Amino acid sequence: MKFLTGIPVVDGVVIGEAYLLDTENYAVTQRFVHPPTPAAAEREWARFQGATENAKLAVASELDENVREKRLTDSTAKIFHGHKEMFDDPSIAKYVRERVFESYWSPEYAVSRKLNSIRKQWSAIPILRQRLSDLDDVQNRWLQQLLGKKREGLRDLDRDVILIARDLTPAQTANLPLKWVRGFATELGGKTSHTAIIAQSRQIPAVVGVNGLTAVLGGGETVIVDGLEGQVIIDPDPGTVAQYRERQEKYERYLRELEELRLLPAETRDGARVRIFANIEYPEEIESAVAAGAEGIGLYRTEFLYEHGRPEPDEEEHFRAYSKAVDLLGGKPLVIRTLDLGADKFTPEGFADEQNPFLGCRSIRYCLLERRDVFEQQLRAILRVSAMGDVRIMLPMISSLEELELAKKIIEGVKLGLREQGVPFNEEILVGIMIEVPSAALMADVLARHADFFSIGTNDLVQYTLAVDRVNARVAELYQPTHPAVFRLVLQTIEAARRQGIPVSICGELSGEPHFALPLVGLGMRDLSMTSSTIPRVKRFIRSISALEAGRTIDKVLAQETATESLDMLLLRAQEIDPELYGSPAESLT
Ligand code: PEP
Ligand code: MG
Repeated sequence: MKFLTGIPVVDGVVIGEAYLLDTENYAVTQRFVHPPTPAAAEREWARFQGATENAKLAVASELDENVREKRLTDSTAKIFHGHKEMFDDPSIAKYVRERVFESYWSPEYAVSRKLNSIRKQWSAIPILRQRLSDLDDVQNRWLQQLLGKKREGLRDLDRDVILIARDLTPAQTANLPLKWVRGFATELGGKTSHTAIIAQSRQIPAVVGVNGLTAVLGGGETVIVDGLEGQVIIDPDPGTVAQYRERQEKYERYLRELEELRLLPAETRDGARVRIFANIEYPEEIESAVAAGAEGIGLYRTEFLYEHGRPEPDEEEHFRAYSKAVDLLGGKPLVIRTLDLGADKFTPEGFADEQNPFLGCRSIRYCLLERRDVFEQQLRAILRVSAMGDVRIMLPMISSLEELELAKKIIEGVKLGLREQGVPFNEEILVGIMIEVPSAALMADVLARHADFFSIGTNDLVQYTLAVDRVNARVAELYQPTHPAVFRLVLQTIEAARRQGIPVSICGELSGEPHFALPLVGLGMRDLSMTSSTIPRVKRFIRSISALEAGRTIDKVLAQETATESLDMLLLRAQEIDPELYGSPAESLT
């Protein structure tokens, strides 16, 4: 039995068979033709040719099936045609043949070496760097044939498993077959990565940032993933399995209890009403968000229209997604955030390669400086749907008044065009901004005079204030939302909004963590937007506290000198308020 610790990102306890996604990346050490004779080399060369033909056939039949089952569109099918062509590449065949006959290298070693050198060349070219995973796919297929290992894709699963991977991309997470994948653990990743956020919206128990995870698992072992405490237990003994089964049942009971208060208002014991909104990536999530008790959408992350491998969306695609969202909301508000591309988010084709992507030409900067056409196209779609419901525009990553003014000028230009064409839209549409860069929080008094609302994005505000990459597991401990510097900036933002009389909400992941409800309500925050799966537990927590206590709590939090002191204080009180969620395993869920 082995215990590993990581970062808990989605609550829940799962026990099952480990399925190691990374087993597909075979490592090949130097091997030689045996015996080193021309006849043996001939045999090995024939084996390579056979493996190549089989790999090509495998791609073709997978492609046929995917197209038949409509899992691939015409454009995504092209990716696999590209894979097929690599198996016919004469330069690869020539290299392998020479190495096998002249140096007596085994074909698997020769093809690995060749593909590794191609990988190095591609890595140096930004546009090709995005294709490296295609190269992995080709290499894996070749080696599976040569090494005789059966390819076991996620799509072929036919049993419950717990996925173990070095990392998962947001798109992989969005496409996990939940019928069989009960939970996952990864070696990389952080709490506010998009992988974690999607996992939350899909409610799949998960732990990320588990150091050394893939080195100690071969696949097939029994594992426990405890998304409440951030534990991964490998080969648990029967006593531990029994203990965790009990913990699992207790947690499921707790979820059933939450179910009962789903549609009750989030109101403190002394009558302070907090409105709860949901953060979404896809309009399809709206039904479950509303079912979980969301009163609207406080953050719609539209960059998910740029999912990897898909062509750039046109105005109609934007429009279709937004009008679907408006329809599903039936009059409830929808805050559409304009494209926040780059860094940890999706990067479209041709996105420049930068040394510090988090500080680079991303998000609103990309829209204003490089792709105004893309920005205007999105704004047209948003404005068109604004005629159909309560739609608001939110600009991400604003760091100065100039940016806000330029964005507003562009919005006015798009409005003018629509007006001239007689296309209806809401003339009074609200234009708000995310406060997620420290300069925006510090200038909140100025920005409040020019924005219709603020939404505080603590995921990035913490990252930029503390200079800690939000998706880097190595510095995850330094990513401290309870840092006094963060609270000061949040307080300053709220005060500026209040003085100017504009609404302010919070949409970072911390709003979905019940123990933050005390300081946030204490700061006077009455609109919270969060991943929908966290809504019921935040409601339950808010219904157990009083605004009076919340006010006292924020005074105490603001008096703390370190993040750890604030966090300890909040967690201690949270344990008293909701022992079922916050108590230690021994006291509560077991
Ligand atoms: C944030 O930064 O807090 C936020 C809500 O936006 P995102 O997580 O999409 O960057
Ligand atoms: Mg952000």
